[in-house]
Amino acid sequence: VTHAYNIQHTLIVGGGLAGLFCALKLSPHPVTVLTSAPIGEGASSAWAQGGIAAAVSEGDSWESHLADTMQAGAGTVDEKIASLMVREARDRVQDLLEIGVPFDRDSKGALTFSREAAHSARRVIHVDGDRAGKAIMEALIAKVRQTPSITVLEGFVAESLIAEGKKVKGVVARPLSGKASETLAFYASDTVLTTGGVGGLYAVTTNPPEARGIGLALAAQAGAILADCEFVQFHPTALNAGRDPAPLLTEALRGEGALLIDVHGKRIMEGLHPDMELAPRDIVARAVHRASLSPEGAYLDARQVVGEAFPEKFPTVFAACQSVGIDPRIEIIPVAPAAHYHMGGVLTDADGRTSLDHLWAAGEVASTGAHGANRLASNSLLEAVVFAARIADSIRKYNPRPPVMRPLILEAFHESGDDPDAASIKRLRILMSKMMGVERNRSQLQMALSELSQIEAGAFTQNARNMAASAMLMTASALMREESRGGHYRSDFPEPDPMQAKRSFITLGRARLFARSFQQSTQSADVAI
Ligand SMILES: Cc1cc2nc3c(=O)[nH]c(=O)nc-3n(C[C@H](O)[C@H](O)[C@H](O)COP(=O)(O)OP(=O)(O)OC[C@H]3O[C@@H](n4cnc5c(N)ncnc54)[C@H](O)[C@@H]3O)c2cc1C
Repeated sequence: VTHAYNIQHTLIVGGGLAGLFCALKLSPHPVTVLTSAPIGEGASSAWAQGGIAAAVSEGDSWESHLADTMQAGAGTVDEKIASLMVREARDRVQDLLEIGVPFDRDSKGALTFSREAAHSARRVIHVDGDRAGKAIMEALIAKVRQTPSITVLEGFVAESLIAEGKKVKGVVARPLSGKASETLAFYASDTVLTTGGVGGLYAVTTNPPEARGIGLALAAQAGAILADCEFVQFHPTALNAGRDPAPLLTEALRGEGALLIDVHGKRIMEGLHPDMELAPRDIVARAVHRASLSPEGAYLDARQVVGEAFPEKFPTVFAACQSVGIDPRIEIIPVAPAAHYHMGGVLTDADGRTSLDHLWAAGEVASTGAHGANRLASNSLLEAVVFAARIADSIRKYNPRPPVMRPLILEAFHESGDDPDAASIKRLRILMSKMMGVERNRSQLQMALSELSQIEAGAFTQNARNMAASAMLMTASALMREESRGGHYRSDFPEPDPMQAKRSFITLGRARLFARSFQQSTQSADVAI
């Protein structure tokens, strides 16, 4: 460590919805937000299209939202946690309105709601059709910039936690978006991880590149318990035209009646599920996965149902298609499933506490148990705000007198440059998509584990070691669950096993032990790059 800073107050790692909302809720308590990308960039939050689920429309109820959440979660939702989440939705939506989020309203000024898959009511509030995430983040960023208790340090990549026994005392980070030779230690009273998801560990993902699952490695290396790491939700319809990340073709398109077809126009979902295109996400993802690997391919056809209305009704999707030379008004769109959302993460309790002292986690990096084995659409933004607020309340409660703010002024900037681990990271991402993707089996997972531990051992940078550690935690968890449930599909165990209808827990020690046991016995994985 080249420099050490004793900030004495709360440090939030990550500047997406969970991080910024927690910072605002902590105000006037001083807080420093440390983030790899400038706030508003490099965060899935800003890319969310559909919106935020909240049972606040007339005729809807939190009980119904809870029932839908439990149903989607495929038997492993923590009911107490999910119930907290749906009941607190109303207050958190009120907070977002007060912060200035311009949710869509009808001519009488009432909020409007859209319906998404597996919701039994219209309950997703949105902005300008598909711009919810961007609008929410813009409003939060404006508020953060006006809040004197919040210091934002942009361009710093957290690489490890500082811990003494079970007590977490801050983080070590590298400036210049992780490219500088020096590292900085930030000592804090409390550390809140809000580093987002794991999509960037996959070759095909809808997540921004900053979502590389680093938060999992950070917590696990300090000894924290992680939960449900095998459960990854794959979005069935990402634009399959070579862009990385792969642009998302929102589910609302299928809601409008867009069809999944092969190149000859044959319906892909025919005979697979009575709800066809609107079947549960994991079923559609598997069908699209298989079709996209076949010579006939997988396509989304929205020519009839959206057609000329594309630019106005789905501006984000329209722009993405145009960027690769496809006109969705008159052409079919090639699709493939993409790693989209991680149900697992750092185990937290109802207040966002992890198994380590003074370490908290919220948003996608956390595993609260609210999503079980499969997340209900638009519950993730809700989970991020509900538990970020709970963390802020808890920190304020046991720390009633705010410490004095001593703003830290440090500047880092983005710099492009060669990553000595670029080839290993590419290999890791392909490995995850092929072996730990929509369908898994024992031999693939064993090979992946063995390869991942080699990538970890050969990495030049801490960032690549962290990616490999996170990938190992997920792969070992997938190997241990010998059944199929929610986002976890084992082709060698294709049915759910009632005996395994419970959450899974793992530590890095256990994952490494597992990896080592296969390393000796497995040949190098045959993964074409
Ligand atoms: C395309 C897309 C559409 C989606 N649509 C919806 C939707 O409509 N509704 C819904 O509920 N959910 C949706 N989701 C999921 C939802 O957006 C995310 O789960 C949620 O935004 C996660 O918020 P977060 O604050 O936890 O993480 P993020 O918003 O991803 O923020 C993570 C932050 O951590 C920073 N960071 C990461 N690693 C480090 C590190 N090592 N050091 C420092 N900083 C770091 C990043 O730069 C970023 O600032 C969508 C996701 C995607 C990708």
